[in-house]
Amino acid sequence: MTAIINSIPALEPLALPLLQQKKITASVLRLDAVHPVVSGNKWYKLKIYLAGAVRQNKKTLLTFGGAFSNHIVATAAACAQVGLQAVGIIRGEEAKQLSHTLLEARSYGMQLHFVSRTAYRNKEIPGAVYQKFLPEDCIVVPEGGYGQEGMEGAATILSEIDAGSFTHLLCAVGTGTTLAGLAHGAAPHQQVVGISVLKNNFSLESAARQLLPPHQQNDFKILHPFHFGGYAKNTPSLLQHMNEWFRLTGIPSDFVYTGKLFAAFTQLCTEDFFPAGSKVLLVHSGGLQGNRSLPPGTLIF
Ligand SMILES: *Cc1c(COP(=O)(O)O)cnc(C)c1O
Repeated sequence: MTAIINSIPALEPLALPLLQQKKITASVLRLDAVHPVVSGNKWYKLKIYLAGAVRQNKKTLLTFGGAFSNHIVATAAACAQVGLQAVGIIRGEEAKQLSHTLLEARSYGMQLHFVSRTAYRNKEIPGAVYQKFLPEDCIVVPEGGYGQEGMEGAATILSEIDAGSFTHLLCAVGTGTTLAGLAHGAAPHQQVVGISVLKNNFSLESAARQLLPPHQQNDFKILHPFHFGGYAKNTPSLLQHMNEWFRLTGIPSDFVYTGKLFAAFTQLCTEDFFPAGSKVLLVHSGGLQGNRSLPPGTLIF
């Protein structure tokens, strides 16, 4: 299947005094810039599901997400581009004023179906949806693209670039699919480190492990202290670091995922987590659209 992304991602070396001081180097893989909507890791997690749907002549792709989900909007845009009807099962009652994310998903033709939080937790597909879309014509993609296909797609992130010389690969962790993909694609000498954006969700390790073959099950580490209050929560210090990071590097980040990744990276450097001589790859997994839910003026970019 032809790629729907516009370009191969750029690798941007960081020139930060802290790195020089600690005698390490680091680069950011700008997945945020590969497509205006299907940004970041989402294209990579979706591509094998999409190729499968097209190959099997499916008409509809159904998936799950919350009102601010990057996965929902990316899926809507990707489906529009490959000619699939997209259906989003959305967590919670329909709000009077839909989020930017959902309005945008709908503008790409995604049909939104709101379900109660309980029904969502059980990943129930409403009967009305079943009646509209024949199950045999429909492919179901789990929330966040979590699954074998998502993991294998994410593993191809590393084949976009000459990744072999990096000693550490870092990414933000939501479902663990991208992290598992990096662990799958990494060379044995590389340490794969995930920064969890969830508060004390220690089931992430097993979620990631489940996607990996037996010989790779311990090939990653997840760090939990960088949640800044929990999923989609933020603190003044997080927002301040995002602005400072932009001022120093020119790289924008989102407050749900990559802002926490970069803040964690700064902290880890300060604490000498990376031995001198380390070469760190930071995967910018995109998600900038989520910043639209912050009050205007919060961020300088
Ligand atoms: C979805 C998302 C993630 C989380 O990826 P997982 O594969 O679910 O762990 C990380 N960063 C951004 C920007 C995302 O949108």
